[in-house]
Amino acid sequence: MDKDCTIYVAGHRGLVGSALVRRLKEQGYGRIVHQTSSELDLRDRDQVERWFSEQSIDYVFLAAAKVGGIAANQDFPADFIRDNLLIQTNVIDAAYRHNVKKLLFLGSTCIYPKLAPQPMREQDLLGGPLEPSNEPYAVAKITGIKMCQAYNRQYGTRFISVMPTNLYGPQDNFDLHTSHVLPALIRKFHDAMVSNAASVEVWGSGEPKREFLHSDDLADACVFLMKNYGGDEIVNVGWGKDIKISELAALIGRIVGYEGDIVYDRTKPDGTPRKLVDVSRLTEMGWQARITLEEGLRRTYQDYLKEIYHTGGVR
Ligand code: GDP
Repeated sequence: MDKDCTIYVAGHRGLVGSALVRRLKEQGYGRIVHQTSSELDLRDRDQVERWFSEQSIDYVFLAAAKVGGIAANQDFPADFIRDNLLIQTNVIDAAYRHNVKKLLFLGSTCIYPKLAPQPMREQDLLGGPLEPSNEPYAVAKITGIKMCQAYNRQYGTRFISVMPTNLYGPQDNFDLHTSHVLPALIRKFHDAMVSNAASVEVWGSGEPKREFLHSDDLADACVFLMKNYGGDEIVNVGWGKDIKISELAALIGRIVGYEGDIVYDRTKPDGTPRKLVDVSRLTEMGWQARITLEEGLRRTYQDYLKEIYHTGGVR
């Protein structure tokens, strides 16, 4: 990637896209283009076509997607499958027709079977039934991977797919109904600390295990892969270790300074029992995550505090 190439970051206001823009700017890339969803609706083929015809795009980071936690996936399954299929199909196809040099598609580790052996290897894709709570989202992401591979085979494109583990960082969604567990718990523990509440409610049993990666680490990995990887195989990106939700809750409680009780609401779903990725393919290429969970959580909590004090609330 030359420093003066044109790079389109789709989804630049989200958790992943905003981290990508920060990383690309740090590395001196001058021409990074993007549009908000009200300026360019990626679900609309004609709008996407117009955008690609107006810009001379060399590289695409496809980080635009409809995303959400376990509750949002259960409540809006049609939106998750439709919007993601439309967004990724329009962008991948436009990238091919407009001769983009390389495209990086962001998937998710929920593409792996619910009961995949842990840690989950890239070759476990389509090895068994998916976790039902987010199956429509996962099917859309699997379609994106297969589209990239099919375009490479038929049209000779260079479209690569990256599977990040559970992410967190600046620009995360802190809405308690639609967010993922980590921002939800930061908000719940902060609110409980401020209001002196006797307890904080954590969904499920606390037993599931998840792996968490800071979005700045993911962005670094994506830029690394865009420069150094051109293969057809998908690539996992993770921290390499997972923790129980109960341990995550205790750690967030400590960082926030909350001393009350933690109670588990077992009427809420646990989701898949464990989600840890095998990162050996990426480490063999020479890349490794750097931001520890504790450091990343401290940074995220500081950002959260800044946001609520500046805006009087969060998105
Ligand atoms: P998942 O990784 O796709 O299952 O998505 P989530 O990040 O939403 O949930 C991960 C795990 O955290 C699940 O077992 C949830 O039940 C659990 N969890 C505990 N408390 C919360 C909460 O307040 N919000 C969310 N989203 N999940 C929670």
